[in-house]
Amino acid sequence: MKKGLLVFILLLAVAPWVVPPFYVTLLNYIGLYGLVALGLMLLTGVGGLTSFGQAAFVGLGAYTTAALSTGVIELPAAFAWSQHSPWIALAAGLLLTLAVALILGALTLRLSGHYLPLGTIAWGISLYYMFGTFERLGGQTGMSGIPPISVFGYQLTTANQMYYLIWVFALVAALTTQNLLDSRQGRAIRALKGGVVMAEAMGVNTARSRMVIFVIAALQACASGWLYAHLQRFVNPSPFSLQYGIDYLFMAVVGGAGQVWGAFLGAGVITVLKQWLQDLLPSLLGRTGNFEMIVFGALLVLLLQRSRSGLWGLLARLAAKVLPKRTVQRAPPTPVASADPLPRRAMPPRGEVVLQARAVTRRFGGLVANNAMDLTVHAGEILALIGPNGAGKSTMFNQLSGVDTPTSGEVLFRGQAITGRDSRDIARLGLSRSFQHVRLMPEMSVLENVAIGAHLRGSRGVLASAWRLDRAEEKRLLAEAAVQVERVGLKEHMYADAGSLALGQQRTLEIARALASDPSLLLLDEPAAGLRLQEKQALGELLRKLRGEGMAILLVEHDMDFVMGLVDRVVVMDFGQKIAEGLPDEVQKNPAVLEAYLGGVDE
Ligand code: ADP
Ligand code: MG
Repeated sequence: MKKGLLVFILLLAVAPWVVPPFYVTLLNYIGLYGLVALGLMLLTGVGGLTSFGQAAFVGLGAYTTAALSTGVIELPAAFAWSQHSPWIALAAGLLLTLAVALILGALTLRLSGHYLPLGTIAWGISLYYMFGTFERLGGQTGMSGIPPISVFGYQLTTANQMYYLIWVFALVAALTTQNLLDSRQGRAIRALKGGVVMAEAMGVNTARSRMVIFVIAALQACASGWLYAHLQRFVNPSPFSLQYGIDYLFMAVVGGAGQVWGAFLGAGVITVLKQWLQDLLPSLLGRTGNFEMIVFGALLVLLLQRSRSGLWGLLARLAAKVLPKRTVQRAPPTPVASADPLPRRAMPPRGEVVLQARAVTRRFGGLVANNAMDLTVHAGEILALIGPNGAGKSTMFNQLSGVDTPTSGEVLFRGQAITGRDSRDIARLGLSRSFQHVRLMPEMSVLENVAIGAHLRGSRGVLASAWRLDRAEEKRLLAEAAVQVERVGLKEHMYADAGSLALGQQRTLEIARALASDPSLLLLDEPAAGLRLQEKQALGELLRKLRGEGMAILLVEHDMDFVMGLVDRVVVMDFGQKIAEGLPDEVQKNPAVLEAYLGGVDE
């Protein structure tokens, strides 16, 4: 891939010398559109947040520089020196965009489902009309006379001269975005698609991650607008309309949702295709009209039918078929070298009460899923929570881990009340869990999935990640993840896509992910379901070992043989209530338990 990138950059560098001016202009637009599509790729393709409003941010960038560099808006005397500098205008545009994005993000990102795209349409339209409303900004006619950009005293007046600046911006944006995705922060962003519950339980602040990608996408769009204004030397409101917002979204989706270079592929294909159809169709049909839009729409529908991962996905699959296997197979991203191990939490002394639930009750309407449940888990102990299907075990796990909030009752973790607190705060205290219905990122590698669990053990931010200043920490995080992958016996699948594992192995992956957070309490919801006998034995060994290290483990399990040989104590639930508690042997003979199990069908 590194070689591919070099070739791409080389081709871009020589292009203006070998292709006719018309194509240089086309490439300029591909760079500008690609820059916007790149942000959308991050926002929509990776983060799953759909925005139709990106064109408005392009407009903010274009209008800020138009107004400042032409002097339409005068700066206060103290800043007069910077009045006509496009570079100061870029900084101003980015700041303005940052402020607007933070406000719009705060207002709209909380919306779920289709309300979010509708929200982006709403502010996209309002910003568009704002550009045309102010007389000073030229109304619908716009503003002309925008000065060219100077780089080191060298004025960029022609399309060929702007070309390099545009593509430097595009490439820097692409590479920093790529870097960001391949980092701790990037994993937190990619985890958004796996659902809020999993990401938050692993300590990810999902609201923040959403805001981060929203702001990045807005800033990239703003930079594109700035470049656009100085390429055209003229702005009016029309290129910042909703129509363009839709086009940008198409580019991101067609190119390949979630692929950095897909954004540029999408921008390229759509720009060229539109141009080409516009020339071709009228001569073919002998009539003029907007035929290109019709054919274009049909092609898009066809493509999305064929490949949900866009053109990039289509090409990747083709390459996998045509090229020799070795070249396509994903190389271990960063071969996990030994690194300074991350600091570990001090385990609580054996026997200490780690988790205590007092009279936890959870009602769903009329249903009492947990009824005055008491539970105590000690350090260095494995406690099994068993009971027929629907007894309320998973609900109990959710109350304990902050995924859900009890209707009443109290949960203490290491003496601290955690009732009603966010799951990521509880994760920070040292509680980690797996899910009965696996929640992982199928398209991320096993190693990366496990590294999500180590999120709270790193601290490097978005900027550090974008500029690769996080590598020392990243190495330690991945090394820790690799240790856990190996520990649960998935070493040979380390770099495989998590989605390619058998279901039982996916559960095991979730244990490794939970362990990567260095917890003192582990909640495992049916970890042995789907495992083969040997794998179950290995899991039993692992849990014994963890117990030996002083970890507290709470386990929901159906497999009685597995539970009985392994755990220290058992709590039995039925209809949301505790019906028995004690040593495995005692509980097994308890008449109430026998009744519950004979009454309800197991599994
Ligand atoms: P278990 O894990 O012991 O099989 P659960 O905790 O999943 O049982 O479910 C206990 C009961 O609570 C079931 O009747 C289930 O349908 C109900 N329940 C669980 N979650 C919800 C929810 N979010 N809304 C409504 N009912 C729920
Ligand atoms: Mg359950």
